[in-house]
Amino acid sequence: MTRAVLVLNAGSSSLKVALFDAGGERLLARGQADRIGPEGGLQLQDAQGAPLPAPAAAASHQAALAGAIAGFRAGLPGLELIAVGHRVVHGGDAFTGPVAVTPAVLAQLEALSPLAPLHQPHNLAGIRAAMAEFPGVPQIACFDTAFHRSHPWVNDVFALPREFYDQGVRRYGFHGLSYDHVTGELARLAPHLWEGRVVIAHLGNGASMCAVQRGRSVASTMGFSALDGLPMGTRCGQIDPGVILYLMDQRGMTAAAIADLLYRRSGLLGLSGVSNDMRVLEASDNPDAARAIDHFVFRCQREVGAMAAALGGIDALVFCGGIGEHSTLVRARICERLGWMGIELDHSRNAAHATVISSDLARTTVMVVPTDEERVIARAARAVLAGGAPV
Ligand code: ADP
Repeated sequence: MTRAVLVLNAGSSSLKVALFDAGGERLLARGQADRIGPEGGLQLQDAQGAPLPAPAAAASHQAALAGAIAGFRAGLPGLELIAVGHRVVHGGDAFTGPVAVTPAVLAQLEALSPLAPLHQPHNLAGIRAAMAEFPGVPQIACFDTAFHRSHPWVNDVFALPREFYDQGVRRYGFHGLSYDHVTGELARLAPHLWEGRVVIAHLGNGASMCAVQRGRSVASTMGFSALDGLPMGTRCGQIDPGVILYLMDQRGMTAAAIADLLYRRSGLLGLSGVSNDMRVLEASDNPDAARAIDHFVFRCQREVGAMAAALGGIDALVFCGGIGEHSTLVRARICERLGWMGIELDHSRNAAHATVISSDLARTTVMVVPTDEERVIARAARAVLAGGAPV
């Protein structure tokens, strides 16, 4: 018999699944369904990345989940799930750590959907699909916002009349599961840096930065929604709210049209007109692709400065996420104007994607630490079970 923890990360048209051993530490298999719907497909891999047989179709989240678990069961006879861990983007102010899902918790999470309309409903659909597929198995929700609940008030508040803060209009911060993993790795790899002032740059399709000291988030670039801060694959990042007012008043755009513009048609895609994918932009000879990278790099440089200011200095800059872990070019470009904060890359280490990519003489250490949000969720699910939380 194989006792295991299943991890689900449900997006609007995708479902990522990972299967860990009962301790929540050892990866057994993983999979991903993309373009869920009539065109949807599902791929499964074993722990070494070798493909496992899977039904090709993924007509719905429920079907993708059933297909994934059937594929895992074929490879791991006697598979018994002890818990399902879920990535949930928004835990609001109430949830400061992982929690076992009860009907009351589910209702609280549903009430947060208006704060993250493009993510939360899909996360909750994943929970409901897993409850239907695995009745009686504890479902554990893990939140991207929870890591940031240690922010001081000055970092969480917008300068609006006070009642808006009290009603939940505040900076929540996201990508917390990734920052949790990276700070844990930092404690293991470089405990002296974990003690210090660390800026973590999670640069993927979604991108943000976080100022961390002793494993606690002090500030982050994302705010009330996952739109703020850095420009991203298709999201605009920080924008003057006056632009939104102009689009509504003068250009007659509806809230839905503006949401579509800011979430899906902006960022690297909107600026370049070429792609949201950094690999494609790096390979392109279109000048607009180069300009989009220039803007991304400039905004990253500015926000490293802002995060360092929130910490009163910087001892380490850590890159993670698809771009942060793999793009030699973007890391080098970001660091090239940060010499004033003691950052100096060793270019051969950077090209080799070494863990430490700064030069030995640099005052500030620069690192690449691969993130693993699924592992954080598996561990958290295991810890909630062990803690005997009501399930
Ligand atoms: P998500 O935020 O959806 O989890 P990822 O963290 O996987 O996304 O990051 C996706 C981004 O990483 C894409 O822009 C992709 O082009 C970029 N990326 C992945 N590998 C490379 C690479 N070798 N060079 C440059 N960019 C890369």
